[in-house]
Amino acid sequence: MKKEERFCKTCNKKKVEDEFHFFFHCSTLDSTRKAKFKPILDDNVETTIMNDHEKLSWLIEKDQIKEFSRVLVNLYQDRQGSNLEEARVTGCLGPHCGEL
Ligand SMILES: [Zn+2]
Repeated sequence: MKKEERFCKTCNKKKVEDEFHFFFHCSTLDSTRKAKFKPILDDNVETTIMNDHEKLSWLIEKDQIKEFSRVLVNLYQDRQGSNLEEARVTGCLGPHCGEL
């Protein structure tokens, strides 16, 4: 499957699911992201003018990496939850189930 066809099945908005979509954009994960991510980003006003690549580079710097990894676990669990919901409906286990 080509990268540009690998749409996110969590939000079903025909967005390519890459790390940036998952970290910053997927609407299904908005509430988790707002609750867990925003406090970290709000800590540094510069993040508001960063693009996604800069934001990610900043997040994996050593002062933030611990908090960031905790947020990732939360986002991942949230996404798993949504995909399991989907799996009950379609019998498919998410974006990569056909590739396993
Ligand atoms: Zn999405």
